[in-house]
Amino acid sequence: MVRWSEHLALCADERRAQGLWRVRRTHHGNAALRDFAGNDYLGLAGDPRLAEAQAEGARRFGAGARASHLVTGHLDVHDALEARLAALTGRPRALLFSTGYMANLGTLQALCDHNTQGACPPLIFQDRLNHASLLDGAALAGARSRRFHHRDLADLERLLGRTPAQSRALVVSDGVFSMDGDVADIAGLSATCARHGAWLMIDDAHGLGVLGEHGDGCVGRMHGVDAVPVLVGTLGKALGTAGAFVAGSHALVEHLIQFARPYVYTTAQPPGVAAATLAALDILATEPERRARLASMIRRFRHEAARLGLPLMASTTPIQPLVLGDSQRVMAWSAHLAKRNLRVGAIREPTVPRGQARLRITLSAAHSNDDIDALLGGLADCQTAVDIRRHREIDA
Ligand SMILES: *Cc1c(COP(=O)(O)O)cnc(C)c1O
Repeated sequence: MVRWSEHLALCADERRAQGLWRVRRTHHGNAALRDFAGNDYLGLAGDPRLAEAQAEGARRFGAGARASHLVTGHLDVHDALEARLAALTGRPRALLFSTGYMANLGTLQALCDHNTQGACPPLIFQDRLNHASLLDGAALAGARSRRFHHRDLADLERLLGRTPAQSRALVVSDGVFSMDGDVADIAGLSATCARHGAWLMIDDAHGLGVLGEHGDGCVGRMHGVDAVPVLVGTLGKALGTAGAFVAGSHALVEHLIQFARPYVYTTAQPPGVAAATLAALDILATEPERRARLASMIRRFRHEAARLGLPLMASTTPIQPLVLGDSQRVMAWSAHLAKRNLRVGAIREPTVPRGQARLRITLSAAHSNDDIDALLGGLADCQTAVDIRRHREIDA
């Protein structure tokens, strides 16, 4: 038999040789650090009102929920939050999950686990650039999956046209693509699904709180439950807390309560987190200037970056990727920025395709003009100092 210790060492060697070794850094709340890597788009994670609501929730209900939702863990603060999330997204009901990863796993498994249906196995159609949790969810569901080209409705149409009449089809897409920052064509996807009798599932993790007239996301009240029967939102991004939800019809939510194993077999969200999320929703409704400020930060950053000739992708959302190509270059730029207390995401394969390694820069309403200027200064520096040094090393 092969020893496990040798297997682990081989995996590590291979990973390092590919230049893909991931390093975790501990953050110490360094006040000088300018964070352009997080997903706290509205600056709510550090808002004292959320912290106070969370503490108050914990005092009232306990630090933990004590059990799963189906045992004794479902509290009235969860009920209140589900009702608010349903109202925000214009859906009859919403169901809380502990994380977005689990919401996607649970939803795909519950919709596609054909053992519970006794029917023909379903087919899942995914945009190529969908989030890992959607791809993993399809694998867990044991469903047959097809991937269509990114945002390519004609390719989806072609694949749907080949689906056997007795099958159910589920089309799955990110709302805002997490590594590219572009937005799915929701109207186009829902029209295509309608022509083929397929259901559409949108994961709006990065749109919720940011896009839409009310911060209701790229689906929200614009595209109702008939257009998008399955809507996933997460609470750990713009809303600044943790957890997720699935919103849709009563029948969908009841189906998930019955069959979604990642819903049934896990402890309910800590009640303080639900209370903090309610506070975040209050702020979302009463302080629209946060979204306006975020939009102006995005415009300003893109305008100045274009003047510097930085190759930003065509994104209008807070996710502003800068594609640099090879992963060594990405690591050199991000290390240089880190020295100037600028933190950006360094994204390499397998998260993005080979040759498309990038800096994932995210903007927030909490950034100041000074923060943006510091970032642009750091990037300009990378264009000269870092790239020139690298070329010398390559030539030598
Ligand atoms: C972050 C993210 C998730 C996972 O949500 P968590 O609550 O962090 O587990 C799911 N889908 C997308 C598109 C995401 O960006």
